[in-house]
Amino acid sequence: MNVRVDEELCIGCGNCEDICPAVFHVDEISGKSQVIDSEACEFVGCCEAAEENCPVEAISLEE
Ligand code: SF4
Repeated sequence: MNVRVDEELCIGCGNCEDICPAVFHVDEISGKSQVIDSEACEFVGCCEAAEENCPVEAISLEE
């Protein structure tokens, strides 16, 4: 699965990292979420929940 975070939209709320820490990390300096391991989506299955819980719809998933 291909996972992307639109850094223009991201407000750094941390929801995605809370839900799916194997995949997302909010960078302390930029304050934006980054994808650290998109392949982990397939193993831990939390990327859909992270996408649904992003308040600004900054996360996109592609099969
Ligand atoms: S849930 Fe959305 S807005 Fe919040 S840190 Fe993640 S990508 Fe950014």
